Amino acid sequence: MKQNNINIVLKLIKKECRKYNNPIVTEISDLTKNPFKVLISCILSLRTKDAVTAKASKRLFEIADTPEKILKLRTKEIEKLIYPVGFYKTKAKNLKSICRDLKEKYNGNVPNSEEELLKLKGVGRKTMGITMCYGFNKCSHIPVDSHVHQVTNRLNWVKTKMPEQTEKELYKIIPKKHWRNFNDLFVKFGQNICVPVSPFCSRCPVNKYCQKIGVKRSR
Ligand code: SF4
Repeated sequence: MKQNNINIVLKLIKKECRKYNNPIVTEISDLTKNPFKVLISCILSLRTKDAVTAKASKRLFEIADTPEKILKLRTKEIEKLIYPVGFYKTKAKNLKSICRDLKEKYNGNVPNSEEELLKLKGVGRKTMGITMCYGFNKCSHIPVDSHVHQVTNRLNWVKTKMPEQTEKELYKIIPKKHWRNFNDLFVKFGQNICVPVSPFCSRCPVNKYCQKIGVKRSR
């Protein structure tokens, strides 16, 4: 694989994705510039459609938009506010635990470090990366979700089984200037063109650069 091809493909994907809406967590980041809201909405967004996350985040933040305010709510109240996001009961408990830690250990602020973020309940590598990139506007990570993992494997940029491996491999081949927006771009591309089942290869702008690894059916 030539580095030159990566740059060309990134450019083409970027152009294509101008047509599509930003993922909800990026929207919240752009609107609020608030790492706490980015962290919490990212947790709500896991295994949940963007439209549902948007409404749940709005309902929650209208009532409670700081760790202190969320801690004043009962877990049942949080459940009700964030329903029907996926795993809403577990997420409600995790939100309380996160807010308790933020208050007690970080003076009510979201920690600005990979190590500390990963200590928070329910925060995995993707949520940590999203918080660093879109909460703190840092170009320090490539958050890898199912879209990033699947599209980069189809392109044959990586040959990996798990998103954690994909993240490690991408750091080796993606120029750092693209890290911050990489997730954003590939989520939009994965939601609209390189969709999980039967991707739209016939109208894909990077068709001629793509090896379509693992694609059994396309449109
Ligand atoms: S050609 Fe098909 S598999 Fe490759 S990136 Fe485009 S849509 Fe995805």
